[in-house]
Amino acid sequence: MQDKTLTCKDCRTEFAFTARDQQFYAEKGFENEPQRCRDCRALRKTSRPRTGSTRDVFDATCARCNVATTVPFKPRGDRPIYCRECYAIVSESANASPLNSATLHATG
Ligand SMILES: [Zn+2]
Ligand SMILES: [Zn+2]
Repeated sequence: MQDKTLTCKDCRTEFAFTARDQQFYAEKGFENEPQRCRDCRALRKTSRPRTGSTRDVFDATCARCNVATTVPFKPRGDRPIYCRECYAIVSESANASPLNSATLHATG
């Protein structure tokens, strides 16, 4: 058997289908020659399927302090994005509206 030079289907790089590999393929009963180079095959192996545990995050900039942050949804631009700290401050001040404090005074 002789070494063969094949072209990778993915990256178009020429790679060696060595006599040893050919023998391995023959032993396994594979009829097709490898379609991809070693690198691309390794890449396909490691590209893991979505598990659900890893969520997509999007880069965003805090509208209040201009700090770079990430959000679990795609920023659409119609709502300001806040970092974790500013979000806490903003949501807190939203709760402390005059109406709410008036109610608190009435009950307290
Ligand atoms: Zn390749
Ligand atoms: Zn912020």
